[in-house]
Amino acid sequence: MTTEIIPSLLASIKQELEVNSDEIVLLDKTLGDGDHLANLQRGLEAVIKQQEELTQLDWSAAFMKMGMTLMSTMGGASGSLFGTFFLSLSKASKNKELDFACFAESFYQAVESVKQRGKSNIGEKTMLDTLIPSALTLKQSADSSEGLKHALDSLQTAATAGMESTKDMVATKGRASFLGDKAIGHIDAGARTTQLIICTVADALKK
Ligand code: ADP
Ligand code: MG
Repeated sequence: MTTEIIPSLLASIKQELEVNSDEIVLLDKTLGDGDHLANLQRGLEAVIKQQEELTQLDWSAAFMKMGMTLMSTMGGASGSLFGTFFLSLSKASKNKELDFACFAESFYQAVESVKQRGKSNIGEKTMLDTLIPSALTLKQSADSSEGLKHALDSLQTAATAGMESTKDMVATKGRASFLGDKAIGHIDAGARTTQLIICTVADALKK
């Protein structure tokens, strides 16, 4: 698969964020300051503006450009974390053919970088509760001989279960950590948008 697919993936993500916008804004208003969707949409629009250029690059260079753009346009805690994710994805896939095994390993490294940048881990009610199970599932799929369709199904299941697991958690990182027990019962906005993006990309790749 080449970077030619990037514009259609970005369009699908944009559409899914719009369809689910009320829910996402409400989540971040409940646990944070309500700007997460706007931050993400600002970053996405900036990347969409560069999409033709991105299709001229290999995956590693495209991830690098996306990471730098997200880093400089998104803002919020999530901006530097999404930026870090793509910069690390770029570094891990540099000079390699981005087959499924390489993507799984690079995704894993990128999630490790987000953990370091956010000084956080699984169970803290953040996007990492979606990202970490997703990374582990991708690796398991790459190590087994299951086909791509099955791997994408497993990825979507893991991302969704991870996102839903934030509902019962107390937050220990980010703005939601100020709420203590009051955060229980609400899904983290970053966990939800991350799950939405992963599931949207997986759906597109199944077609
Ligand atoms: P801000 O919190 O600065 O307003 P956003 O609203 O854009 O930034 O993003 C909030 C999301 O970022 C949270 O829902 C959470 O998923 C994620 N987040 C915040 N802090 C951390 C952290 N230290 N580690 C991982 N994710 C974090
Ligand atoms: Mg916010």
